[in-house]
Amino acid sequence: MTESLRRTAIVTGAARGIGAETARRLAEDGFAVAVLDLDEAATKPTVDTIVSAGGRALGVGADVSDADQVQAAVRRITDELGAPTVLVNNAGITRDNLLFKMPDSDWDAVIAVHLRGAFLMTKAVQKHMVDVNWGRVVNLSSTSALGNRGQANYAAAKAGMQGLTKTLAIELGKFGVTVNCVAPGFVQTEMTMATAERIGQDWDDFVAARVAQIPVGRGGLPGDIAHAVSFFVSEGAGFVSGQVLYVAGGPKA
Ligand code: NAD
Repeated sequence: MTESLRRTAIVTGAARGIGAETARRLAEDGFAVAVLDLDEAATKPTVDTIVSAGGRALGVGADVSDADQVQAAVRRITDELGAPTVLVNNAGITRDNLLFKMPDSDWDAVIAVHLRGAFLMTKAVQKHMVDVNWGRVVNLSSTSALGNRGQANYAAAKAGMQGLTKTLAIELGKFGVTVNCVAPGFVQTEMTMATAERIGQDWDDFVAARVAQIPVGRGGLPGDIAHAVSFFVSEGAGFVSGQVLYVAGGPKA
């Protein structure tokens, strides 16, 4: 991609895990990438990896559930990197518990980061896409959207991401913007390591138990998810919109 055609992408929650690998992959695909996460300092390893490979990246600190911070972040990205026309809503948290033990605040926190975050970010960025009649939005859902014990908040948020995706695909299609969802199964990241720790299970045992249920016989890696995001973002995927792609090593959650 030449400099004049170079587009700017934002990946939220890109300090680590799936977001970091997606940011790296989109930079390799030729995008200038805004690496957005809660704490700007924490984005440095991702930014450094991209820059040392010859790419362009900007670390930005913002809470995606805070409207003012989202506005400020998108303004800064537009000024310093270029108007964003690709958005990957990846930032996420888990606060797992059975319904009767789930504090109201844990329900609110999970819905706020995933759903309010994706809503605010997409609303702030869409005008740049509409301006140039081209854009790509990719939202991170999960196999948990199909139901997962102990994750009422997270499952509701991830199912909500799918409804948001389909609706925005309908609203934004005529402006050259596609909106799709990647729904990962088990991926080995700090998020799933924290789950193993919380339930007091050794990481290797935790992985083995999950892998036993996965037809391809291995756990997912951040690169598996980044690859799917890269497809949805690619020029050739312009006729694919409103879709949910389960990337889970098999047909079932
Ligand atoms: P992770 O916990 O390793 O990384 C998530 C990142 O999001 C962190 O860097 C965190 O600081 C950031 N973040 C959290 N709240 C934020 C906020 N309010 N504003 C900005 N950034 C915020 O998680 P991961 O495993 O890489 O997951 C990435 C996405 O993929 C999440 O949406 C997650 O729900 C989804 N997902 C993960 C798995 C899995 O097995 N790991 C499976 C399905 C879906």
